[in-house]
Amino acid sequence: MIHRHTLTRLAADLRARKLSSVELVRTCLGRIEASQPALNAFISITAEQALDAAQAADRALARGDGGPLAGVPIGHKDLFCTAGVRTTCGSRMLENFVSPYDATVVERLKAAGAVVLGKLNMDEFAMGSSNETSYYGPVHNPWNTDMVPGGSSGGSAAAVCARLISAATATDTGGSIRQPAALCGVTGIKPTYGRVSRYGMIAFASSLDQGGVIAASAEDAALMLREMAGFDRRDSTSVDAPVPDYVAGLEAPLEGLKIGVLKEFFDEGLDPDNERCIREALSVLARLGAGLREVSLPNISLSVPAYYVVAPAECSSNLARYDGVRFGHRCESPRDLQDLYKRSRSEGFGAEVKRRIMTGTYVLSTGYYDAYYLKAQRVRQLIAADFQRAFGEVDLLVGPATPTAAFPLGSKVADPITMYLNDIYTISANLAGVPAMSIPCGFAQGLPVGLQLIGPHFAEQRLLHAAHRYQLETDWHLRIPERFA
Ligand code: GLN
Repeated sequence: MIHRHTLTRLAADLRARKLSSVELVRTCLGRIEASQPALNAFISITAEQALDAAQAADRALARGDGGPLAGVPIGHKDLFCTAGVRTTCGSRMLENFVSPYDATVVERLKAAGAVVLGKLNMDEFAMGSSNETSYYGPVHNPWNTDMVPGGSSGGSAAAVCARLISAATATDTGGSIRQPAALCGVTGIKPTYGRVSRYGMIAFASSLDQGGVIAASAEDAALMLREMAGFDRRDSTSVDAPVPDYVAGLEAPLEGLKIGVLKEFFDEGLDPDNERCIREALSVLARLGAGLREVSLPNISLSVPAYYVVAPAECSSNLARYDGVRFGHRCESPRDLQDLYKRSRSEGFGAEVKRRIMTGTYVLSTGYYDAYYLKAQRVRQLIAADFQRAFGEVDLLVGPATPTAAFPLGSKVADPITMYLNDIYTISANLAGVPAMSIPCGFAQGLPVGLQLIGPHFAEQRLLHAAHRYQLETDWHLRIPERFA
């Protein structure tokens, strides 16, 4: 039963000593073990370290110490470096990589007292929308195990959905927090670019990557984000601005909040059942006192093509370091240096990663750079300007997080373009660097639907506030798939 409680409630119960972290962590570890054959949400389970950390948390709590997350069970997406525990990034390339240091996010959550139960499955190098590109096998959606959980943070979303852990770290380059959160019926927030340190977060596309949270509720996400966010001198793009107390002020009324309904997000690609849920959610927000009006982002249709130039370009450069010498898998008995590079990379990377590296290398090459990369960067400016204009009129933007609910495993792997179109509503926020969330807002044929909220730079608090008020009125976020209840 304790697994059903929110992180906020667990943190309070642990502090009040109604519950011990060891007991809680044991329960969660049992649930993780039992779920692995069906869900495959974890790549590594760190039972021993978790029990040691739980004991330490219990001792600290007994003394009246311990951070705000003392004793709470969480997991890390397997691209956050963890000292002493392997970090695979969902790839064969890093199958045996053990980082000598902790990512800043890992360090901060540890300092806040959170207990890490393991490393979560993900698409290889965070490239994917279904968690099917993982070298460690796909993750299954807890609502229906024939369906994908979304990607690339599929393990994070599935594990929180099935309440194997209270919350998880995740990353979002083009939707990888919001899309799996939507498909699994959990709450995910991608903060403003620069809000959360990328130090120790394995890079995919550095100008788009941002770490964030997947949790059961907006309140839980606020609690996590408060500990994770903040300036880090080890990340040159980290922003030196104070971190507000995201938990404070969540209860304030929504009265007077100006919400823009994203016109272009209600296109012919949006499934009618999803649209029905989104429209109902909009009426709840209106009932809560928000003023709704339609807003247009005219250049939004260019976001997918622009992203699929910029992201592969940056990936081709970031992934050059995996050469079998400095980093990563090394092939058996290479003939010479050329052979070593070639075979190590051929064996270490999967098909989607190779496709991105090749696309990226192409768009950056002489003669094509101006036509593709530079053009995509210009389009990116147009999209950012669209958002800026919109936020001159409204406080928040809303729309669907994804065009459809979860789709069957295997149904889109052979068709990368169809797969890429899954990100049509999420990518623009990354291109503009603005914060965005997905919260559960209903079901389409038994599968969860996500409502997306997008805010201006550094308006995480506004997003969390609107989401929390919505969650006080609805119970979609409290639903758990029957077999994990
Ligand atoms: N699905 C997108 C991609 O494959 C986004 C991934 C992400 O946000 N990490 O690139």
